[in-house]
Amino acid sequence: MTELRLEGVSKAYGDTVALEGVDLTVRDGEFFTLVGPSGCGKTTTLRTVAGFEEPTDGAVRFDSREMTGVPPEQRDVGVVFQSYALFPHMSVAENVGYGLQFREPPDGVTVDERVANLLELVDLEGMGERSPEQLSGGQRQRVALARALAPAPDLLLLDEPMSALDAQLRESLRRQVKRIQSTLEITTVYVTHDQAEALAISDRLAVMNDGGVEQVGRPQEVYREPATRFVAEFVGDNNVFEGEVCGGDGEYSRVDVDGETFTLPTVPEGTDRVTVCVRPGALSRSAERNRLTVRVETSEFLGETVRVNGRWNGTDIVLQRPTVPERDELTVGFAPEDAHVVARQ
Ligand code: ATP
Repeated sequence: MTELRLEGVSKAYGDTVALEGVDLTVRDGEFFTLVGPSGCGKTTTLRTVAGFEEPTDGAVRFDSREMTGVPPEQRDVGVVFQSYALFPHMSVAENVGYGLQFREPPDGVTVDERVANLLELVDLEGMGERSPEQLSGGQRQRVALARALAPAPDLLLLDEPMSALDAQLRESLRRQVKRIQSTLEITTVYVTHDQAEALAISDRLAVMNDGGVEQVGRPQEVYREPATRFVAEFVGDNNVFEGEVCGGDGEYSRVDVDGETFTLPTVPEGTDRVTVCVRPGALSRSAERNRLTVRVETSEFLGETVRVNGRWNGTDIVLQRPTVPERDELTVGFAPEDAHVVARQ
């Protein structure tokens, strides 16, 4: 079992800074996700952990072992990439057993037993003799997972392993990956650009932006208490306002947003400028406080609810409504307790 640490890891490719001063700790047995938009540095972080890249600065540690200069094959990591990268001329069983040529199977079992156990774990019993081309995309990715796990690595690294699959398959594979990870209790780092997937699968996640980490936390924390405007907007739908604190009575703070005064949870003393985040579901017709009249622009029918996009005082607004609005203006409000307020520098 292994704890992974990145300490001040930076990586530059010529003039391009891919990572800058990344500090992360992935706990023993944890399912940890790196999530962020394209180009934010997720893959570079993973490749640095695997040893395919060396950091320009900083250190990667597995427990207390400093990994600088240790080549990938000596790092004891299992990696699954976006493309299946299976060996096409080998059977499924030969693919899964590949890494066992270099390393004895764990627990004193034979190679054949280990391969059979792993095929069972990924629900591919009896498929060992097939060739990869006789499998679906989801099955191939499960073979890739079994192959990565066969030598019982200390760390499992998954780089967008589901992005080539359709939405339904992604969801079922995601549940399988999570089940397998928690059965094995293997420390896992998962990379995705899909914030909904990151929330669903992770014990904790790091939201990355522009080569750095914006926030690390459990899914509920990151969703409910985004640390920055970037996180508030990247993770789930949100309404985000910039405001200036203009008063307070000990119970609530008053914040000026575009000439309107919002009543919000009390902010720490000395805070002047704040970012106010209100989830679409918190904006309701019946809330008495913090009323805003939204000009409706488009409505998207989502089945259970309708997502309404509109504008208020130059700010984009997202509402969650039970039905498509019939009027082109909707007045809604929100309770102070339903807003999340972030102090700005
Ligand atoms: P995506 O989701 O699109 O894969 P990412 O978050 O994984 O993005 P990285 O692939 O880590 O991002 O890239 C981070 C930055 O480093 C980008 O600006 C990218 O162009 C740059 N970069 C990555 N690899 C190299 C390389 N080998 N040479 C030059 N620049 C690179």
